[in-house]
Amino acid sequence: TQEFTNLVAVVTGGASGIGAAIAARLHEQGASVAVLDLRPEGADAAHFAVQANVADSASVEAAIAAVAEKFGRIDIVINNAGIGAQGTIESNDDDEWARVFNINVTGIARVTRAALPYLRVSPSAAVVNTSSIAATAGLPQRALYTASKGAVLSLTRAMAADHLREGIRVNCVNPGTADTPWVTGLLTKAADPVAERAALNARQPHGRLVAADEVADAVVYLASPRSGSTTGASIAVDGGMQNL
Ligand code: NAD
Repeated sequence: TQEFTNLVAVVTGGASGIGAAIAARLHEQGASVAVLDLRPEGADAAHFAVQANVADSASVEAAIAAVAEKFGRIDIVINNAGIGAQGTIESNDDDEWARVFNINVTGIARVTRAALPYLRVSPSAAVVNTSSIAATAGLPQRALYTASKGAVLSLTRAMAADHLREGIRVNCVNPGTADTPWVTGLLTKAADPVAERAALNARQPHGRLVAADEVADAVVYLASPRSGSTTGASIAVDGGMQNL
């Protein structure tokens, strides 16, 4: 079945990793997909790729206007763009806190705000945010990142409440460590990437990294009318890590 036929989806960070997997799944299910990414050249040719920085209001407004002009509607917003940050509260300074929050948290508000006029008139409006296992696990050496992803979880619930009566559902997905260019890029910097990957796999409850497609399947469910009674919720796709 093509459950997104005639619907238009915006996927931020859709040129790589989890976002690329989400864009592919939505497209398979009949959606017209617009990828908003800092580096849109990585996007699949099947999608409408727009260069955009979620940390910049003018850039986001121009990108959403370009999508609306191209397709005439926006039904689904997937706020997936995000960056990592390592360190404790001592190693990340105020500028770094502002930079990461501006991308990971304010970026979600910015993109969704720009799309709201379209979502309000959609018969099938859904927003799905990419949070992280970091939102609920007190990971060491990740103070800034975990705080930003905790904020994504809270923001998801607040947005769900604010837009409930407008027929706009807002949910999030909390991936565990996923096999994406972000993570493989970090592995290649290790002294022994093969041993490091084996160690990373061993740290996962199910002995392997989460597949980007597994995250995408949860996101597609939350974006589809099949989850019509679900808003303000989060789905963990983490092999059970949140329970440890
Ligand atoms: P990735 O680095 O492979 O892809 C991220 C994409 O976002 C890239 O195409 C990048 O160009 C784009 N991007 C980054 N900053 C942007 C900005 N300011 N504006 C527009 N686009 C921007 O990363 P990924 O692993 O696929 O992660 C995607 C999301 O999933 C992130 O929000 C991340 O925090 C979250 N996440 C990832 C993991 C993991 O283990 N990979 C786990 C939990 C959550």
